[in-house]
Amino acid sequence: MCGVFGIHGHDEASNIAYLGMHALQHRGQESAGLVACRDGKLRQRVAMGLVSDAFDRATLANLPGETAIGHIRYSTAGSSELRNAQPFLFEYAGGSLSIAHNGNLVNADELRAELEAQGSIFQTSSDTEVIVHLMARARAQKGSADVVGALIEALKRVRGAYSLVLLTHDEKMIGVRDPNGFRPLCIGRLKDAFVLSSETCSFDLIEAEFIREVEPGEIVVVDKSGMTSHKALPAQEPGSGETFCVFEHVYFARPDSLVNGKSVYRAREKMGHHLAREAPVEGDVVIPVPDSGVPAAVGYSRESGIPFEMGLIRSHYVGRTFIEPQDSIRHFGVRLKLSPVRSLVDGKRVIVVDDSLVRGTTSRKIVKMLRSAGAREVHLRISAPPTTNPCFYGINTPTRSELVAASHTVDEIARYVTCDTLAYLSHEGLMASVGGTGYCSACFTGNYPVPLGSSDLVQLRRARV
Ligand code: AMP
Repeated sequence: MCGVFGIHGHDEASNIAYLGMHALQHRGQESAGLVACRDGKLRQRVAMGLVSDAFDRATLANLPGETAIGHIRYSTAGSSELRNAQPFLFEYAGGSLSIAHNGNLVNADELRAELEAQGSIFQTSSDTEVIVHLMARARAQKGSADVVGALIEALKRVRGAYSLVLLTHDEKMIGVRDPNGFRPLCIGRLKDAFVLSSETCSFDLIEAEFIREVEPGEIVVVDKSGMTSHKALPAQEPGSGETFCVFEHVYFARPDSLVNGKSVYRAREKMGHHLAREAPVEGDVVIPVPDSGVPAAVGYSRESGIPFEMGLIRSHYVGRTFIEPQDSIRHFGVRLKLSPVRSLVDGKRVIVVDDSLVRGTTSRKIVKMLRSAGAREVHLRISAPPTTNPCFYGINTPTRSELVAASHTVDEIARYVTCDTLAYLSHEGLMASVGGTGYCSACFTGNYPVPLGSSDLVQLRRARV
């Protein structure tokens, strides 16, 4: 759960990157950082918090140059502290190098132990740093003099999910997607500049033109002579093919983005259509849990013919509840964030649509809230299948033991959240909504397309005992 951004060949590179990162803020709110290059020198600023808190005119003015990369972070590997804020900046024999990573490597612990045993000293607790150490080694041992050669050697050893943006002291901007293409990464043009971003919504803000997505397993290199493409990364698991994260469509990406070639809004709306067909119920009003449930509720309402109303109002002055690492804030957050519109729900049979149910705490509070605002019946509809397995490829899900659907039936969950009826979208309905195959849906099925690392397997086994 992170966002990456890069721009090459624009005289206001860090200002544009700041805007682009702002449009990716939903992908993480823990830290924000920028690295810009001028005259062979890479300058960095990273800070905890939101993009708008991390930068001001003065800090941006200290990041001159025509090329910049940025990162916003929510931790999935490594603790929440400034030393893990990206883009990282390293000096190695090949010069200086900066890297920003979205995704999660599953064999980082093993590689780290191996590298440390050989004398590497790590500066952070992040999985991303492994890539840089492997690059330095590839350069030293295999004589891969150019940065792309060293990167390819390094990436052949890592497993998992990675969309990367790198910047070198000689102003090469590099974009990479892992061979499975778990996380998005798009290429755009802003006049003569090339832009890379996790999502197309940042192109819309900076008025860049969307060109295409970086393909799974592709490395694109932008320098003064333009963009070149390299396809040198072998499959991570024989036969696993492309496995774009379906949860990007369910929850994570912004609805105005195109990811994996499809409109996120349309995909969510279709999830609502399918859900209405699969799990109809008599009701007076369909209301979304804003913001993430809105497109699916629109779809549910259209398909069922039951009127759509904004029966819950979201405060825009608190972040996403789930995204705060401390449990206490998350619990408090639901009430801070949402409040019911009494006149829309009082005396009504209310159908509430949300995109996912993870621990069940949010839904339980929402049901209670709606009943105390007078709702006669509350029917909960979830526009994704039950979340039964944790993600190890970069979405922040809790451990399996905290996932309510991992150990409870739909009826038990309905009793826990105190709704009248509960239904989830089927896996088939989800796949029909996003258009077929080529997705990772491990959080709903437990089928992990890239073999997990030893520490992830320990966590899974522990939860299953
Ligand atoms: P819970 O209370 O744990 O059941 O959380 C469910 C709510 O969290 C739903 O409203 C989702 O929109 C939201 N959600 C689901 N997955 C995530 C995630 N990985 N990060 C942040 N929020 C999430």
